[in-house]
Amino acid sequence: MCAECHPGPDYRVTCPRRDADYRVTCPRRDADYRVTCRGVILPGKSGKHWLKRPHRLRNQYTDKTDPTPDSPVFCFRKADLLIAKGKDDALEEEIDQSGEHGKISMPEAGAVGSEEKDFYRARGRYLKLPTVKQLGPDREYIFLFSMDGGAFFLLCEEMTDEQIPDGFEFKNIRTMRSEAYGPQHRLFAAITAYQLANWYRDNRYCGTCGTPTVHSETERAVCCPKCGRTIYPRIIPAVIVGVINGDKILLTKYAGRDVPFYALIAGFTEIGETFEETVQREVMEEAGIRVKNIRYYKSQPWGIVDDLLAGFYCDVDGDPTIHMDRTELKVASWCTRDEIVLQPTNHSLTNEMMTRFKMGLEC
Ligand SMILES: [Zn+2]
Repeated sequence: MCAECHPGPDYRVTCPRRDADYRVTCPRRDADYRVTCRGVILPGKSGKHWLKRPHRLRNQYTDKTDPTPDSPVFCFRKADLLIAKGKDDALEEEIDQSGEHGKISMPEAGAVGSEEKDFYRARGRYLKLPTVKQLGPDREYIFLFSMDGGAFFLLCEEMTDEQIPDGFEFKNIRTMRSEAYGPQHRLFAAITAYQLANWYRDNRYCGTCGTPTVHSETERAVCCPKCGRTIYPRIIPAVIVGVINGDKILLTKYAGRDVPFYALIAGFTEIGETFEETVQREVMEEAGIRVKNIRYYKSQPWGIVDDLLAGFYCDVDGDPTIHMDRTELKVASWCTRDEIVLQPTNHSLTNEMMTRFKMGLEC
């Protein structure tokens, strides 16, 4: 119960990672705060104030924003992103791939700003981008978005090995989440930049008539000067589903993928399908279970595969016997709160949804 909306005791939850009580913010007063290890504070430690506001990414395109010498630049080569080199032995640091808690532990709740930066720096996994000054001012840059008021740009050409500035290297962006690169807001920005970079690369020519496209002057779109077609970024909707059976939730592990952690049922929305139908179909396909009471929780952009993930909880409808699809999954089982093994970082909506259930919060 919220102390401000309803006079009464503070809502307290227990963080499953640190086994400590945390005070959570009220979703009515500020929907930006989340009940996660990172979004709550230790009572008494930081007075009565909540954590500082979350980082803000503004994605509206404007051609009025010009790069300055210090502007950070995203530079991609296929799925690799150019970032500052970490310490050499960082790559040797082992992340526990057994599915148990990783050896990487996140900064203390309440740690913000430089402490968080130091945490990732010390592990050689701090996401630091090159600047216009380092890449050269006489190149073509496109404004991507602003974060916390600072503008970020995309280098529009591919870089050769000889052009890589000293102290930087290309790293595969697809493995940055499981390797716990951060801070989290920088990782999300990098993944969003990757999605935009792919979109720009794939739409240099009009798909209808083959003419080179030009950027719209007013919005995030490219236009065909010959046939007049306007091409907007496409986002692919998908669902994540927390299927609940009383005091248990359905956890899975994907077959044939190098992801050792527990996950929830997930899948892409088909053309002509609603989210609710996707939820029903995916749970039936992957686990052979009927579901009811489908309720929306929250969404998360995931630019690695152009996704917008919509998280849903639902209840088993009838027989809870699992018939696992072995082509998609290698594990599918009902887990109690105690049996839930969380992912080593809080970077995914899946982990947040599993955490919520584990904490006994409303799902
Ligand atoms: Zn055209």
